[in-house]
Amino acid sequence: MIANRSHYSEEHPIHQQHCTLELPDKPEEACGVFGIYAPEKEVAKLTYFGLYALQHRGQESAGIATFDQDQIYCHKDMGLVSQVFKETTLCELPGQIAVGHTRYSTTGSSHKVNAQPAVIKTRLGHLALAHNGNLVNTIDLRKELEKRGCDFVTTTDSEMIAVAIAQEVDGGKDWQQAAISAFKMCSGAYSLVIGTPQGLMGVRDPNGIRPLVIGTLNKGTIRYVLASETCALDIIGAEYLRDVEPGEMVWITQEGLSSFHWAQKPARKLCIFEMIYFARPDSIMHDETLYTYRVRLGHQLAKESYVDADLVMGVPDSGIPAAIGYSQVSGVAYGEGLIKNRYVGRTFIEPTQQMRESGIKMKLNPLKDVLQGKRIIIVDDSIVRGTTSRKIVKALRDAGAKEVHMKISSPPVTHPCFYGIDTDSQDQLIAATKSTEEIAQQIGVDTLTYLSWEGMLKATGEDPNSFCSACFTGDYPVTIPDQVKRSKLILETAKG
Ligand code: SF4
Repeated sequence: MIANRSHYSEEHPIHQQHCTLELPDKPEEACGVFGIYAPEKEVAKLTYFGLYALQHRGQESAGIATFDQDQIYCHKDMGLVSQVFKETTLCELPGQIAVGHTRYSTTGSSHKVNAQPAVIKTRLGHLALAHNGNLVNTIDLRKELEKRGCDFVTTTDSEMIAVAIAQEVDGGKDWQQAAISAFKMCSGAYSLVIGTPQGLMGVRDPNGIRPLVIGTLNKGTIRYVLASETCALDIIGAEYLRDVEPGEMVWITQEGLSSFHWAQKPARKLCIFEMIYFARPDSIMHDETLYTYRVRLGHQLAKESYVDADLVMGVPDSGIPAAIGYSQVSGVAYGEGLIKNRYVGRTFIEPTQQMRESGIKMKLNPLKDVLQGKRIIIVDDSIVRGTTSRKIVKALRDAGAKEVHMKISSPPVTHPCFYGIDTDSQDQLIAATKSTEEIAQQIGVDTLTYLSWEGMLKATGEDPNSFCSACFTGDYPVTIPDQVKRSKLILETAKG
């Protein structure tokens, strides 16, 4: 039975208009997922805080499903985690198991009906599924499931995975067998947290493109937590145990945690953009915080491209660690030159024309007395379309900067992502159509330098083959079907 807080079966999705104070000029993260098995805890509240820590991974919608024995409760809606959930809402989500999700839409449009967790009824009870990533074989998968008589409520690939599992369960399999059969039908990127009345499941695709970590709670009877990033463990006082491995499924019940390696040829292809930009700097990957990795990117950038200047600064917040690293190796003084309004985010109110024209100052305001007459090095993590970079450079020059040299702590983004990161189609990526000199001219800098691909991977200290870096190379670790390719790889298709 589903309790009254469930919203997943809405027939008339609300089409919300939203705008940002300026168009985001960064790839947008797809989703954050969280799950907990802890009968003696307030699981909904802990999930709320886990999602709160993962808010950077998706700001369009949020949802939590809880399992109280056989009964499922679910609340999800458009908006930030703090807007979707009130204390009273959380009190109406009792149970021993919880699954949570924050969403930025990649497959499926931005409607309330597409908010997750996806909830499906099976012969063993309901399942609630939270997905981070993107399938690349959705067209074939949907056809196959429709052939088997399955119906869909939403337009998301996440619902397809949930339907595929439910179909296998209804065919007689238990949760683990059903899930493994369903995963074998999926191709692409998927880190999943799945709640059932019997236990909590965590899964990564065979390439482990999106992250998923396991944490523990309690000293006596150990309880387990699953999350996209370790920052979501820290906020609830859970200890990081380990990553879910590529092609691994963990199954958490009253008896503890069991592991199944279900993929035939697992590989390690973690999204390098998680390391450079998406994941929070205080999250741990490869035994260190991403802040430390990003400082090292700055070291490498300084080794590869020194320029004489008075001040090195980062584009807040994501460019700051690499700017500090650049300063440490180059000896150029580090300082702040742009102050970020930390309370700017998505708004449902249209800004005025005058506000639009003031552009970047809505979000970043330059420190005139710091910049006046100075030769500035500004460090950013990436350039996608180049629109924000141009505004930043103009703001620095208007504030009196004598020279502006831009350093990027990753290589040029030349290819779109198909694995759950919302990058533009290829023709919108400035580096896909213009040389570095042309980009420098377009954004108005004196010089522009990117970090080398080799340097970016060397700074990880890991095997360079253990990352997906397809948006810099076009070398996609999971084959992209032609019809999907055509949607974004516009230049390659034109060439081919
Ligand atoms: S294509 Fe780029 S953004 Fe997408 S998974 Fe690979 S490295 Fe990450």
